[in-house]
Amino acid sequence: MEYNVKDNLKKVLDSLPEGVRLVAVSKYHPAEYIMEAYEQGHRIFGESHEQEIRQKVDVLPKDIEWHFIGHLQTNKVKYIAPYISMIDAVDSLKLLREINKQAIKNNRVINVLLELHIAEEETKYGFSLDNCRQMLAEGEWRELKNVRICGLMMMASYVEDTEVIRREMLLASDFFDEVKAKYFADDDTFCERSWGMSHDYPIALECHSTMVRIGTTIFGPRVY
Ligand SMILES: *Cc1c(COP(=O)(O)O)cnc(C)c1O
Repeated sequence: MEYNVKDNLKKVLDSLPEGVRLVAVSKYHPAEYIMEAYEQGHRIFGESHEQEIRQKVDVLPKDIEWHFIGHLQTNKVKYIAPYISMIDAVDSLKLLREINKQAIKNNRVINVLLELHIAEEETKYGFSLDNCRQMLAEGEWRELKNVRICGLMMMASYVEDTEVIRREMLLASDFFDEVKAKYFADDDTFCERSWGMSHDYPIALECHSTMVRIGTTIFGPRVY
């Protein structure tokens, strides 16, 4: 292996303050890379394609906690519902309903994060802050007993200007506080602020992130 997964993982883990968890983003990397990290004791991995994650789940240890971090189409939920630990990027009420439906079929509760769209880029999915406010105010999510909303996730704009990144992450953090106070004050499971990737996670750590999603820094560049 050209990339030293073991050393990279250790460096990243050593740089995280207590209470911040790492989703090791293994999309487009082979199962052997995941095993390298697994052997170091790491258990949380992130994937973003349904077929790819299914192939890996089949061949890798059963105690891995899989996060689905990419955009998820409603028609794919049924495939990942039996085993997924967390769906990190729920960007519509329609998707939330479908996750609930498939969770019921599998007789389980599925953890999710709501994805915010704060970045300037149009390609990024997610709720605008206003749409998220509206969805929560309307209250249907409360009836969806087989999904557990554990917090918020977002991707900052992919830019050089660290102040832009910081501003977006702080906006997400403020929004977390708003929503937490209004809807989840008594709910300890609503606690995750998932922002920070390879290029911007040091900033995310300054902006109250609790869960970083890091791929390239650990596994090297992806070959698409
Ligand atoms: C691919 C991906 C990451 C990891 O990106 P790196 O730059 O490789 O760290 C994080 N979050 C999401 C949603 C992704 O799709």
